[in-house]
Amino acid sequence: MTKEELWQATLARIQFQVSPANFATWLQNTYILSKKDGQLLVSVPNNFSKEWLENKYNKAIFKTLRELDPEIRQVAYTVEKILAKQKEPEKNSSGACGAEAQLEFAEFKINKSTNLNPRYAFDNFIVGPFNELAHAASLAIAKNPGSVYNPLFVYGGVGLGKTHLLQAVGNEVTKEAPEKKVRYVSSERFTSGVVAAIRNRTVDAFRVAYRDIDVLIIDDVQFLAGKDKTQEELFHTFNTLYERSKQVIFSSDRPPKSIPALEERLRSRFEGGMIADISMPDYETRVAILKAKMQERSFVLEEQICEYLASHIQRNIRELEGALNRLHAHFRLVNKMPSIAEARSLLKSVIQSPNKSVNYKKIIETVAEFYDLKEREILAASRKKEVVRPRQIAMYLLREELKSSFPFIGERFGGKDHTTAIYACEKIGKEIQESEALFDEINLIRQRIYSA
Ligand code: ADP
Ligand code: MG
Repeated sequence: MTKEELWQATLARIQFQVSPANFATWLQNTYILSKKDGQLLVSVPNNFSKEWLENKYNKAIFKTLRELDPEIRQVAYTVEKILAKQKEPEKNSSGACGAEAQLEFAEFKINKSTNLNPRYAFDNFIVGPFNELAHAASLAIAKNPGSVYNPLFVYGGVGLGKTHLLQAVGNEVTKEAPEKKVRYVSSERFTSGVVAAIRNRTVDAFRVAYRDIDVLIIDDVQFLAGKDKTQEELFHTFNTLYERSKQVIFSSDRPPKSIPALEERLRSRFEGGMIADISMPDYETRVAILKAKMQERSFVLEEQICEYLASHIQRNIRELEGALNRLHAHFRLVNKMPSIAEARSLLKSVIQSPNKSVNYKKIIETVAEFYDLKEREILAASRKKEVVRPRQIAMYLLREELKSSFPFIGERFGGKDHTTAIYACEKIGKEIQESEALFDEINLIRQRIYSA
């Protein structure tokens, strides 16, 4: 048995002992680097999985290896550079596929000064009747910032392309007019900026930093509800920019008049330019979006499966993409295109649960199970590395799925301050944009949360 065969056989057995999600997360991109005098060196994709394998799975791996080859005495794990790994001739192993995919997505780095993610462009934004107006207005603004519609206020439900569209404007302006200063901020980040400025008595510096921006994009302004100081600061920032004919773009999950606890003068600013909504995509557009996403991933599903996805996931483009990612992850794992029957079964949890209900307990339970931890380990204040990250992910999910407040989240996790919760949510939120792997991983957790 060659070392490759030995490892494949080991993985094939381990696969039955761990959940598919854990397998995909920890074992998928591993392979044997060397085998000498009973010593095995296994390559793993990152430090996090190294620790995980050493602490959690080593026993099972070692036992299985020895059953297959009694001469094995020791196993060690090491993180190897992806580039080195790509030179390996075994191109068609699922491991190499994974590494390439990681490399490909690693190129999407968020720009430090603009906060824009280059992944969001007009090129890969599919237009249909449901988003036509918002798209046309955005495109016009990208070509002529500050002079057509000011401000632009885009609203629509979750996962329907607001962030994508707003960032596409920013990216387009940066491309066409690199001298222009573009800045994208989430409302939460804007809020924490205001809070910090007040605390550190640097409000003037904060104002100056926003004053000479040419295109300011503020995402999800519904989160400003009830935050008076932040609203006041935004009002002044807006006025300053507006007077200088600088472009301002807002998004929200609802129209300005439906945002609760919003100062009247700010509401009237939001309504003072162009308001465009994004509604739900029709069937044809959903198919077109899927095709575009498949092309991005160099992964093409059978027509029948596309139709199945497009007809069953109607309300949320992010979910449509999540389903595609799920099938893609499966493909990378087994290196075989799913059949329609497999696709149905893989997506059962996403598709066959119209009455999704989820609560705090369910989220903690699922995250704990996903990472093979006890619920109390996740909730306690321990700083152990293998717990810290799952805990941050649990906090992030509480925030995203239940809109739990930061003080509530902090309180639940070892009685921490709300800033710990904000930090965790921001950190994971940012990493998701940079790492397709983490994005997939969290989608897998989400899927489980909604599946039972
Ligand atoms: P929102 O901000 O409205 O919650 P996002 O902009 O984050 O939604 O979109 C969710 C996902 O769906 C993103 O990955 C985005 O690229 C994708 N998406 C949304 N609308 C489109 C579209 N019209 N064409 C292509 N992809 C889209
Ligand atoms: Mg968004």
